[in-house]
Amino acid sequence: MEITFADGARDECDLLVAADGINSLTRETLFPSARSRYSGYVAYRGTVPEEDLRPETFAELRDAITYQVIRDSHVLVYPIPGPGGAVQPGERLSNYVWYRNVAPGAPFDRLLAGRDGQPRKVSVPPGMLSDEAIEEFRATATRELAPPIAEVVNGAREPFVQAVYDIDVPAMTAGQVAILGDAAFAVRPHAAAGTAKAAADAWALADALEGAGGDIPAALKTWEEAQLDLGRRLLERCREIGRRSQVDNSWDPSDPYLIFGLHEPGR
Ligand SMILES: Cc1cc2nc3c(=O)[nH]c(=O)nc-3n(C[C@H](O)[C@H](O)[C@H](O)COP(=O)(O)OP(=O)(O)OC[C@H]3O[C@@H](n4cnc5c(N)ncnc54)[C@H](O)[C@@H]3O)c2cc1C
Repeated sequence: MEITFADGARDECDLLVAADGINSLTRETLFPSARSRYSGYVAYRGTVPEEDLRPETFAELRDAITYQVIRDSHVLVYPIPGPGGAVQPGERLSNYVWYRNVAPGAPFDRLLAGRDGQPRKVSVPPGMLSDEAIEEFRATATRELAPPIAEVVNGAREPFVQAVYDIDVPAMTAGQVAILGDAAFAVRPHAAAGTAKAAADAWALADALEGAGGDIPAALKTWEEAQLDLGRRLLERCREIGRRSQVDNSWDPSDPYLIFGLHEPGR
């Protein structure tokens, strides 16, 4: 198969593996029927340096992923490395992700348009949320969230919003091309398993190619069947977490079914 790169360079290959992420051009080109569906909610996000938190808030949040489940919504706060990669407690950032339902249509379009009124479908970058949106979510945080969590939510200087989508594909191979990771299925973030799935897709492909003794079509057939199943099951699990927390109000974060990551390699 001959490939032409964006700079005009050409090359030959027996198998092209496209791992080009959530906005995959390969997916769009090969599988135009792949679906990207809005989940009905967005993630409000932001960070606060741990050193800016009140000591009692820092003590509450420093060594855990802290969840609060409220009606039709949930929020989590956890430490992430600070500027320059600092991982020492006190030098990190406290990061929050607050899932809030936003109806499709006018409410979604208004929120995503941000302060400059640009049409957007995926995210409002830091600094671009409208004053009205910031005022609304901060007032709701003060009213509805536990004080340490509200402190993080309200302390973030440049909050931003990401819309949550499900992306699934009808196939992961087309001739001598394979797509994997987020280029294939991109799932809601609740299981924190996107990286594990991408790695599992790649490892399984290597195993299938090795096991097929050079028969690439046979390897792709075995691999695709298993990875489509993995992608669909993970998509469904993440969708269920979303439904239970954002719609049914039946979510129990301690339920082992809802545990982070893949349940085991390939699952
Ligand atoms: C805010 C956020 C938080 C997340 N948190 C977690 C988490 O806690 N745990 C977890 O497991 N997952 C998490 N994820 C999901 C995780 O990041 C993805 O599932 C994972 O990165 C997918 O890996 P990938 O290799 O398929 O794609 P990516 O990591 O997106 O890599 C795709 C690469 O392809 C490159 N590329 C794109 N187009 C082209 C092109 N045309 N030519 C050449 N290169 C191209 C991109 O530049 C990029 O380097 C999170 C995602 C986000 C956005």
